Amino acid sequence: MRSIGLDVGGTKVLGVAVDPRDPATVLAEGRVPTPDGGDGLVDTLLELVASLGPAPSSIGVGVPGLVDRSGTLHMGPHLRRMHEVPLARLLSERSGLPAVVDNDANCHALAELAGGAAVGSLEALVVTLGTGIGAGIISGGGLLRGAHGFAGEPGHMVVDPNGPPCPCGKRGCWERFASGTGLARLARDAADAGRLGAAVALAGGDPEDVRGEHVTATARAGDAQSQSVLDELAHWIALGLANLVNILDPAVIVIGGGLVEAADLLLPEVRTRFADLVMAGAVRPEVPIVPAQLGERAGAIGAALLAVPDWGGGDR
Ligand SMILES: [Zn+2]
Repeated sequence: MRSIGLDVGGTKVLGVAVDPRDPATVLAEGRVPTPDGGDGLVDTLLELVASLGPAPSSIGVGVPGLVDRSGTLHMGPHLRRMHEVPLARLLSERSGLPAVVDNDANCHALAELAGGAAVGSLEALVVTLGTGIGAGIISGGGLLRGAHGFAGEPGHMVVDPNGPPCPCGKRGCWERFASGTGLARLARDAADAGRLGAAVALAGGDPEDVRGEHVTATARAGDAQSQSVLDELAHWIALGLANLVNILDPAVIVIGGGLVEAADLLLPEVRTRFADLVMAGAVRPEVPIVPAQLGERAGAIGAALLAVPDWGGGDR
């Protein structure tokens, strides 16, 4: 049995072929640039599928945006000119194969549930901290999709009504503070205030050039100022996680996305602050906050499971 999963990002599409019985083992892998606009997307995805070897039994696609239960992409804040694209129907008609499309963070969650850090959990929260923030909520052993398929967008819960504007059109969304974008903003503020000497030096001397990777590199080398910026980021991450745990009460929180590369620098402080911020943190059972295990392929692996009964296919 062979299933194809495609993870559509803002700049590239990553495709994998897996056997759903052993999803963590990738049989084939390929990547192509993300086309500009919905018209070329189906052609691009089908070419990628064809490049991944023998004909699969199904195709699954993860996209960063709001996807309804029919597999129509309604909007993706980071995808240009892709609105109201009936992607699942178009892929199925053109390929003759079952095709399922879902939100990319839901795919991450499915992958971690099937073969990563959430294996065996009936209740889990998977949060991806990248340019923005995505989430997949596992409830009762499957994805919680909500009435319209739009559940699990905590990146756009407002944590500061007077905060910076967000691509979604609102202000002060959690992903403005607790993502890679949030780290870049915290780093620039600290650099402008003269509190980030080593990271500014690493960036070439101009505070405007400081990026997240300069902060993590210097923090890893022991720079206290850079670690203090990461501790600020950890506070914002913990604040959102505490809000989510108050609502969802998961058994485990899995952190994925680009920032997971700095998990060793971030998660100890996230755990400490989370315990202070969550309701009754001193007396409730501990909620482990752990890094994702499947890395950058998680979205594509989870997408490959979308059309497979017992995984994504079971509860749509
Ligand atoms: Zn927003």
